[in-house]
Amino acid sequence: MGKRRTYTLRFIMEMLVVFSVLATILIEVISSLHVNRTSLSTNYLENNYQYAKKLARNTADILTVLQNNVDTIARQAGEKPLVEKDLDDWYAANRQNFHSLFITDAEGHIQKVSPLKSGVALGTLLTSHAVRLALIQKKPLISEPYRAVSGRLILMISSPIFDKQGVYQGFAGGTIYLEESNVLNRTLKEHFYGDGSYVYVVDQQGRLIFHPETKRLGETVLLNPAIQQALAGKSGYQQIVNSKGKSYFAGYTTESVSGWIIVSQTPTSVIDESNHKLLHNLLMTSLPFLLLTLGIVWLIAKNINTALSKLTHISDESGGMDCPAELTTTSKIYEVQKLYQSTRLALRQMNRKLRQLQSEVEKDGLTGLANRKTFDACLQDALRSEIPFSLILLDVDRFKRINDAFGHVTGDEVLKQVAQTMLDTTREDDFCFRYGGEEFGILLQGDRHLFAYQIAERLRQMIEALDNPTGHPVTISLGIASYPLHGTEALDIITCADQALYQSKAAGRNQTTSFRLGIESLQP
Ligand code: GH3
Ligand code: MG
Ligand code: MG
Repeated sequence: MGKRRTYTLRFIMEMLVVFSVLATILIEVISSLHVNRTSLSTNYLENNYQYAKKLARNTADILTVLQNNVDTIARQAGEKPLVEKDLDDWYAANRQNFHSLFITDAEGHIQKVSPLKSGVALGTLLTSHAVRLALIQKKPLISEPYRAVSGRLILMISSPIFDKQGVYQGFAGGTIYLEESNVLNRTLKEHFYGDGSYVYVVDQQGRLIFHPETKRLGETVLLNPAIQQALAGKSGYQQIVNSKGKSYFAGYTTESVSGWIIVSQTPTSVIDESNHKLLHNLLMTSLPFLLLTLGIVWLIAKNINTALSKLTHISDESGGMDCPAELTTTSKIYEVQKLYQSTRLALRQMNRKLRQLQSEVEKDGLTGLANRKTFDACLQDALRSEIPFSLILLDVDRFKRINDAFGHVTGDEVLKQVAQTMLDTTREDDFCFRYGGEEFGILLQGDRHLFAYQIAERLRQMIEALDNPTGHPVTISLGIASYPLHGTEALDIITCADQALYQSKAAGRNQTTSFRLGIESLQP
């Protein structure tokens, strides 16, 4: 079996506090991070949606202006054929909006173009799908992006030309080079917070018209969930994962003039950064709190510990025998005070009980004199100290008869009287004891062999003269032996005194005999 580990109260309290403070901080951190994540997610989604809507309005305004301008050129050309200069003036006025302006005939041949250096020669037959559509539909159009003869990715805004008789003459067109700086990307490119957010625009076929990465223009992004939602006629926001596996908060809406879809999105990783900062702040603010709480608990634990150590020390040192007056505490803790009170009470009760037990072990229950066991110990002490002493042994004469004649209770009374008389006759430092039954003894300290006989005789006479409950004189016989005169061992001294006592009995009782060599021959 392994030894069971024990822990100090202070250690347990400190561990408890560290655990509870850490648990509190952990719960606070988890819930704060969760709340932060939820509120930031909602904010980013909502902000992107609002931003997409704002850009959609701006784009619609721009497209309306562009369309109006081309419409005006077409109207003027219908009223009166335009000369080169007229178109150059229009181009000069729309330099910010269009990369080129041109007029075609009804078959799609370039009639006029401004600026001339735009790369398309007069008379060229335009064959692109966008041009075909404009010629067929004969109405204002904003084309899909397409690659022109020049190789540029182009967006064309066109308006049909009808003469005064209403005969179709061709159309006026304005081009925007999507891959170069243009009126649209200048508006859309406005930087958004600098946190990785960006905007892109796709046409109704899902092709990119505007994207921060110019090389992606013209790419179809129909798999994008936000685009799918927008193509289904919805606008709003959602968290999406793009084709590169990156997650975004996206807001999307459809622009009203062209039907283009405008998406504004912010990487969801911005929340991780925000949460890292929040975590850092929370830990920094919690740390002093943790240290303060630990400090307070340390002080309380120290207080309790000191009080308990004092108790432990007292019981260890005294073995519970004494109840020291200083067993008090200054602790203000109720339980500690109660513990001190009950310990004081328990120690007092224990001491009382111990004293009682001690007395029961050492004394004779009937007479209150020391018992045989105590006498043996006292005799050994006396022998060890090598200081001379005398031993008087005495026995009540014919005691059996007293018992028989007057009963044991009366016999007991006689024994108590004998014991009391022994105490009255001797000095305080003389040791009186009951040897057993109706036999008693006195150990007289000091070299008092000569006086021992006198003391014994005085005792004998006093007992004989006692007013005892039998109404008849009670007598005793006594024997005396001395150390070192008659021996140096306990047994020698007791045997010698006993032999002297026997001689007193044999000689007729009620007398004292001092041991002297030769009396042992009197033994039966
Ligand atoms: P002797 O003179 O030879 O000593 O005769 P004795 O009768 O005193 O001696 P014995 O040994 O025959 O009798 C002693 C009696 O003491 C016997 C016993 O019943 C009685 N006795 C012993 N202890 C007590 C006690 O505590 N109380 C009472 N009442 N009697 C006791
Ligand atoms: Mg006897
Ligand atoms: Mg007797």
